[in-house]
Amino acid sequence: MKNYELLVDRIAKASGLERAEVERKIEAKKAKLSGLISKEGAAQIISAELGISFEDEDLKVAELIGGLRKVNVVGKIMNIFPVREFEKNDRKGKVANFILADDSGSTRVVLWDTNHIAMIEDELIKVGDVVEIKNGSTRDSEIHLSSFGELKKSSVEMAEVKNAPAASEVGLDEVRQGMSVKARGIVVQVFQPRFYSVCPTCNKKGMLGDDGVFKCAEHGVVEKKDRAILNFVLDDGVESIRVVMFSDQIKLLIPEEDLSDEVKAAAFRDDLLGTEIYLSGRVNRNQLFNNLEIVANSVEKVDVEALIETLNA
Ligand SMILES: [Zn+2]
Repeated sequence: MKNYELLVDRIAKASGLERAEVERKIEAKKAKLSGLISKEGAAQIISAELGISFEDEDLKVAELIGGLRKVNVVGKIMNIFPVREFEKNDRKGKVANFILADDSGSTRVVLWDTNHIAMIEDELIKVGDVVEIKNGSTRDSEIHLSSFGELKKSSVEMAEVKNAPAASEVGLDEVRQGMSVKARGIVVQVFQPRFYSVCPTCNKKGMLGDDGVFKCAEHGVVEKKDRAILNFVLDDGVESIRVVMFSDQIKLLIPEEDLSDEVKAAAFRDDLLGTEIYLSGRVNRNQLFNNLEIVANSVEKVDVEALIETLNA
């Protein structure tokens, strides 16, 4: 929805029309087409009718919506996934993916052209590089680059980027696997924390040998460090979902070592239970239970007083 708002802004600015007028046109178009198209789709038709083109425009990542052609984006590569090979109709192909971010948000870029993929394979472009994409097309908010597209290193400096995928605030009944979500709800159940042991140097899981000695694959015999996993159930009044928290988030709510202390851990769980929180995270399918869960990347208690103050401001 945020992309839609940006699109309306852009159309209003380019056409000189009032924002409300643009929205009226979009609604009318959608109604005329019996609701067969999305608001975003209707907005694209209106922009075309008004003679506004998104072709050869430099767009911000957060402005990307599905169905655009010839979009240009400049952003920093945050993460590169392994190149995959596939077979389709007896033809072998390759596809590569990376995450691109600018100061408005981040998105996935999908490369289909062997020359572009080779740039990744040969490490001509790497994580941290700023790249320029021309002639991309969009599918949802992803950028797809065919051989008609261009990919090259940019000389643009980009210090601040927003790496969190543009998360949308959703009802818990709307969450789907792979979504980045923001939700607000009440903690209705808190489970006993679980622990696993890691190497204190590299934070990777180690192994406890038969001799009772803890070993890291890389660092040998080390003094193990315990890390916690905390599960709770969040309910937004419509639906409830299981949430998983790892050390980095837990630490913000309670010193991790306190979780190993039964009394302190019980007090913490009592305190969290019934609390209203803001949660953002990624929706995952739990392989063991085959249900959806949210892996938290931020958990914040709702400060009702502060909220009322912003609403009144
Ligand atoms: Zn280690």
